[in-house]
Amino acid sequence: MKDLVLATNNPHKVEEIRNKLGSSLRIKTLNELGCYEDIPETSGTLEGNASQKSHYLFDKYGCNCFADDTGLEVEVLNGAPGVYSARYAGEEKDSEANMKKLLEQLDGKENRKARFRTIISLIWEGKEYFFEGVVEGVILTEKHGTEGFGYDPIFQPEGYDKSFAELSMNEKNSISHRGRAVEKLLQFLKEKL
Ligand code: IMP
Repeated sequence: MKDLVLATNNPHKVEEIRNKLGSSLRIKTLNELGCYEDIPETSGTLEGNASQKSHYLFDKYGCNCFADDTGLEVEVLNGAPGVYSARYAGEEKDSEANMKKLLEQLDGKENRKARFRTIISLIWEGKEYFFEGVVEGVILTEKHGTEGFGYDPIFQPEGYDKSFAELSMNEKNSISHRGRAVEKLLQFLKEKL
């Protein structure tokens, strides 16, 4: 079985992705690879950040690897918080503070359309490939549910009357931005394996 290193230690992400990829590949986290440093993420775009992270790992460890970067893009805020979603309310990357700030920014606004967008950069046998996943939805006026992470309690995907935080992990994975991007990655890898 081949290894694929995932440029994260976030347990939610690792679980979501292992769950999707099943047993076709051995997914390794950064710690499992022996990488404990902070990987730079200094580009101003999702594509740039994903690529910067996967190249960092490939250059240092020479492994098959993938890195993803996700942003929540709110229409009336011209795509903000976007690439800055994690630190929207400050360097602490505090989800509660981020949601509070976003709800305040949208207070009284009628247009609450938003989308999550994930970009994956895969380096497979030395070559880079990109995959994109998008889920459209709206920002609710208050928090609902306790599952998931990040902005899940205030994001309601199109066609649902529940927030992401009210869906099971499997339900969320089947329609989420990251789920869709990983699905494309999986199709690609199936052809390669
Ligand atoms: P990352 O690039 O996956 O680390 O995502 C950046 C930020 O976007 C995270 O810190 C979260 O605030 C938010 N985010 C990413 N994916 C999700 C998700 O599935 N649900 C809710 N928020 C998310």
